[in-house]
Amino acid sequence: MRFPSVLRLLAVALAPAASAQSPPPASGLSALPEVEFSRLSQRDPNPLGVKALAIHPDQWKHGETEHFIYHFVDSFVATPISVEAEFHYRVVTKELQREQPAGDTKSHLYIFQKPGDWQQFQSAGKLEPWTGGIQSQGSLFIVRDPAYKFASNALGHEIAHLIIHRYYPDGIPCWLNEGFAQYVSKGAQASYLRARNYNARSKSRTVDSEKLIPLAELIALTFPPNDRVETFYDESERLVRFLAASDKTSFLSFLDALGRHQPFETALFQNYGTKFMTPAALEEEFREYASKEVGTSL
Ligand SMILES: [Zn+2]
Repeated sequence: MRFPSVLRLLAVALAPAASAQSPPPASGLSALPEVEFSRLSQRDPNPLGVKALAIHPDQWKHGETEHFIYHFVDSFVATPISVEAEFHYRVVTKELQREQPAGDTKSHLYIFQKPGDWQQFQSAGKLEPWTGGIQSQGSLFIVRDPAYKFASNALGHEIAHLIIHRYYPDGIPCWLNEGFAQYVSKGAQASYLRARNYNARSKSRTVDSEKLIPLAELIALTFPPNDRVETFYDESERLVRFLAASDKTSFLSFLDALGRHQPFETALFQNYGTKFMTPAALEEEFREYASKEVGTSL
C-alpha cells in the first residue's frame, strides 16, 4: 500500500504557503535532484519557456521526474510540487484509462517565486482565472508566493490540462477541458482531504437552473466568459460529471471524438444515442442533475 505515504507527502505539498518561506519540515521528503539544463532529457519547444528562463537567467535550476520537467528557483519549493504533480498524473491517467508509453513527451513546469518576475512574465500569456496559472502549448507557468498557494485543487486542475494536451495537442472544446480538469482534480483533492479527516470542501458545486448557461452557448465558448467565470467552471464540471456518471466508457469515447473535432451533436449521438437522442434531451436531464448535491468520489 503506497497510497498513505503519497498522502503524507501531499500533506507537505498542500501545506500553507508560509512553509514555502522556510526550509522543509523534517518530513522525509527527499529533495528533487537538480539537473543541469544541458542534461535535461527533453527541451521545451514552447517559446514562452525561453521567455521565462530569460527573466533573471541565473536564478533558474532544473530537475525532472518520470512525467514532468521542472524549472525552479529553490528546490524546497519545487520538491513538494513535483510530488503533487506525479500524484495528479496517476489520478488523471487512471481516470482516462490510458498511460503514456515510457519515454514519451514530458510537460514542462516553470515555478516562479518572485512576484516581480511573475508580473514581468504575465504579459506573455493568458492567465487562467480559476488558478492564476498560465497554460500554454502543453507547458505550465505558475508562481509560488505567500499570496498564491495550492490550498485548493488548482495544481491538480492544471496538471489535468497538461495531460489532456499530450493526448489531444490540437485541443478539445473549452467546456470539456475545464470541466474535466475540475472534475478530476476535485476527486483527487477530496480523497486527500478525507484521508486527513477533513470535510471535503472541494465537493462538486451545484448550479441553479436559472443560472445555467444554455448548452448551445456553453459548448461554443472558447474561453471562460468574464461575467460568468464561476458558473462556467461549475457547470462544465457538472456536465462532465453527469456524462461520466451516465456511462464511463461512452464518456471516454465521446471525449476522444471531440478531441478529433467531431461536432458535439454527432459525437453525442454516436456515444450516448441510446440515452440522449439529441442535445435538447441531454439538456433537460442535465438541468435537474446540475442542481442536485452529489459526492465527488471518482
Ligand atoms: Zn483550467
